[in-house]
Amino acid sequence: MDIFKVFTLEAAHRLPNVPPGHKCARLHGHSFRVELRVSGEPGADTGWIMDFSDLKAAFQPLYDQLDHHYLNDIPGLENPTSERLAMWIWERLKPSLPLLSEVVVHETCTSGCSYRGS
Ligand SMILES: [Zn+2]
Repeated sequence: MDIFKVFTLEAAHRLPNVPPGHKCARLHGHSFRVELRVSGEPGADTGWIMDFSDLKAAFQPLYDQLDHHYLNDIPGLENPTSERLAMWIWERLKPSLPLLSEVVVHETCTSGCSYRGS
């Protein structure tokens, strides 16, 4: 069973490695939607996999680094594609959130990626 929590964050970026003239080379912003999924069995007494507020608290330090920032300035996000952002979140969150099973990044309403650690 999975639970999930959705976060929205505003951030600017540009993609430095796209071909000349590509629109993503220009500075622009997105309202990113980040969905964190956690897998496990509901506790016999709690009835839940984990407290949503613990999930939110675990992500908060990363959220603070990303929201209203220029992603390219963040170490590890020099080429901040959605794929790189999903991996960046995963690598920093997994140690403190071992039940994390998937990071989904929506860059626009119709485009995004999901990462499950490989
Ligand atoms: Zn973009």
